Amino acid sequence: MMPTKTEEEYFAKMEFERKKKIEEEKHKRLAEEEKNRLKQLHYMQCPKCGMELIEIDYKGIKIDECSECEGIWLDAGELDAVAKLEKSGLDKFFSIFKK
Ligand SMILES: [Zn+2]
Repeated sequence: MMPTKTEEEYFAKMEFERKKKIEEEKHKRLAEEEKNRLKQLHYMQCPKCGMELIEIDYKGIKIDECSECEGIWLDAGELDAVAKLEKSGLDKFFSIFKK
C-alpha cells in the first residue's frame, strides 16, 4: 500500500524537525566552544591592553591588577565586598595599589 499524501507530509515534517534539532544542537555546541575559546584567549588578560593580570588576594577579595597599564579589575560581587570593608581595611586595601 502506498502511503497517503498526509503521511508523506507528516514524515517529511518529522524528518525536517529531526534535522533542525541536530542543527540547533550543533549551533549550541559551536557557541559553547566559541565561548570557551574566547575565555581561554582572554583569561587573566587585561581587557584594555591585553597584557597579563596579576591576582592579588586581600581578605578573600581577588583583585586583578594589570602588569602593564596597572588597571585594576574586580570579579562579579567583589565591588560589593570592597564596599563592605571597614575604613581601616579599606585604607589597607588601597595602600596595596599605591606606588
Ligand atoms: Zn592593562
